[in-house]
Amino acid sequence: MPQPVTLETLDGVAVITIDNPPVNALSQPVRAGMLAAFEQAGQRGCRAVVLHCAGRTFIAGADIRELGRPIQEPLLPDVLDRIEACAVPVIAAIHGTALGGGLETALAAHFRIAVPDARLGFPEVNLGLLPGAGGTQRSPRLIGIQAALDLMVGGKPIDAPRALQLGLVDRLAEGDLAAAAVAYARELIDTGGGPRRTAELPVDASGLAHDFFAQVRATVARKSRGLPAPQRIIDCVEQATRGQFAEGCAFEREQFMQLLHSPESAGLRHVFFAEREAGRVAGLPADCPLRPVGSVGIIGAGTMGGGIAMNFANAGIQVTLLEVSQEALDRGLKVCRDNYQRSVATGRFSARQAEQYLGGISGTTDYSAMADADLVIEAVFENPDIKKTVFRKLDEVCKPGAILASNTSYQDINAIAAVTSRPQDVLGMHFFSPANVMKLLEVVRAEKTADDVLATVMKLARTIRKVPVLAGVCHGFIGNRMLQSYFREAQMLLLEGATPAQVDQALESFGMAMGPLAVADLAGLDIGYKARRAIADLADHPSVHVADQLVEMGRNGQKSGAGFYRYDRATRKRQDDPEVEGLIRAEADRLGIRPRTFTAEGIIARAIYPLINEGARILAEGIAQRPGDIDIVYVYGYGFPAHRGGPMFYADTVGLDKIHRSICMFRDTLNRPGDWQPAPLLQRLAHAGGKFAS
Ligand code: NAD
Repeated sequence: MPQPVTLETLDGVAVITIDNPPVNALSQPVRAGMLAAFEQAGQRGCRAVVLHCAGRTFIAGADIRELGRPIQEPLLPDVLDRIEACAVPVIAAIHGTALGGGLETALAAHFRIAVPDARLGFPEVNLGLLPGAGGTQRSPRLIGIQAALDLMVGGKPIDAPRALQLGLVDRLAEGDLAAAAVAYARELIDTGGGPRRTAELPVDASGLAHDFFAQVRATVARKSRGLPAPQRIIDCVEQATRGQFAEGCAFEREQFMQLLHSPESAGLRHVFFAEREAGRVAGLPADCPLRPVGSVGIIGAGTMGGGIAMNFANAGIQVTLLEVSQEALDRGLKVCRDNYQRSVATGRFSARQAEQYLGGISGTTDYSAMADADLVIEAVFENPDIKKTVFRKLDEVCKPGAILASNTSYQDINAIAAVTSRPQDVLGMHFFSPANVMKLLEVVRAEKTADDVLATVMKLARTIRKVPVLAGVCHGFIGNRMLQSYFREAQMLLLEGATPAQVDQALESFGMAMGPLAVADLAGLDIGYKARRAIADLADHPSVHVADQLVEMGRNGQKSGAGFYRYDRATRKRQDDPEVEGLIRAEADRLGIRPRTFTAEGIIARAIYPLINEGARILAEGIAQRPGDIDIVYVYGYGFPAHRGGPMFYADTVGLDKIHRSICMFRDTLNRPGDWQPAPLLQRLAHAGGKFAS
């Protein structure tokens, strides 16, 4: 096996090169190799050391596959202490990304030089962790307390020019980085610039308000909803102001180990791996040919069509939007324009970029404009007859080999494909609203969808920066199918005595981005109302009686100023509404349901366990490939808390036996046995002491 770390000497300068593709992660052989190379550099009497990386990036981080396993020596903090202790100047030469342990390594060097497009950051917080190899102690010494907190608590990388401003790097390199780093080394040798050890710098806490850390803790707790990692980072930085570097490092290590074993970090790490796994389709050959997609047509420029168009335009793919009338088209294009203007106002895009992206979207009312499109996505009204008419039309006008997709939320893609002469080219691409923002894309494979069509769309999803999850055909696919039981129970809880605020607050305390009743108000109560009128058997469930009455009173949700809540026109803040509570009580009386009181835990179990139960059915039916895929759908599409890992991972942490017992108890006590039949897979795993993950 080739050595991942090599040393060569250039006229008194040791050049240590890390070559551990693909991203030079800090796996054990790299740590051991660095240690050995620095020893050797000392033995050879080198007068300076340059540390750099081969390939496309500097060290992009720890090898996270090693997390959660027994760590093999040498440990990174020890390696970094050895690097910092070096008797001659050490220069880190940074290109690509220096992230996490990679940035900690750079901070243990005495000087840092970076190419202008390099990026540096501490993303550990995103996995529920903190920089555990001296990062929390070295960064405040180098760039100050506030900047260090921003970098570590925010978890977002910064670019090299910003890093230069902060003092995180000392120089930007023009041209060949390794040559510039060696020249920097010679300059230091010539001018007698010795080692400059970050650990020996003081932490400047002068000028901080006496309650500085308390204030930071409170602000961060609000933003991160009490997650532990950001708080522990603040603790470590405060510790850095109090004592010696070594004490700070010991404290940091302790905090790191606690976080490593926390459920929050386990959940976040699961999501990290599940997201990568979700893109893989079992049984698709790795060398499956892809169809080129250089132009996209979109049918329908409503809420979804416009947002979908923006995704492609932002990726440099030409888009043509088709509408039924010029008026509808103008309205759709205006929504795109307004969205881009908002992005410019918030600084997401420059005015020039926005102009360029908008220029990539053109409009038409003529189907012949679809003749050359490589992919056409239908996003018209959720009505099967209209959708089939559109697909017949597309079958007539589109070129052979064009991929035909539907953004339907519920319709049967097999039936849609069947109206065309090319069902192998048809599949579902289910985007989430707002389509230009939400990261999830459910890719729905129909019975006859060809492998290369599926492979092309899974790959294309990444091009437009979405997270694709494969789903099979059923009513609502993965996400919306599960959601029905969640909404059902949220609304039954109202009839049984909980208020809308109690239900929403309980689920928000669990970590849901927004409670279900507030979500229903935001989406518009009229949408579900109309859908129920289209499917007779859904209309009859007692859970929807209140929502139906609200719609009939003109309370369509946030957009009409009232739904389950009343909304302040200016702030859109929700307020409890006694009128709704009266309505709920009257309906409960009519149904003979006696009000009870609920704990937050009780509400959470009632709303979340049905998600898990339906998820188990979806898994057993093969609608989802793996439990992690369901988790990704819920985390990226429905605001499920990532630190709980998604509903299926959460179920494994609670214990399937406990969940199964609760579901049986609800079945036996709630008088709606049809709603609470335990899924056979859940039952089997619960009895066998198994997990979804296994
Ligand atoms: P919408 O009512 O906002 O927009 C539909 C648009 O389609 C309208 O502008 C209409 O003029 C146009 N249209 C209707 N018939 C057409 C035809 N024959 N040819 C061309 N254009 C036609 O609806 P939406 O919310 O954008 O939903 C569109 C689809 O996306 C639906 O299938 C819906 O289920 C699905 N979807 C919606 C959401 C959501 O949150 N709104 C989320 C995911 C998926």
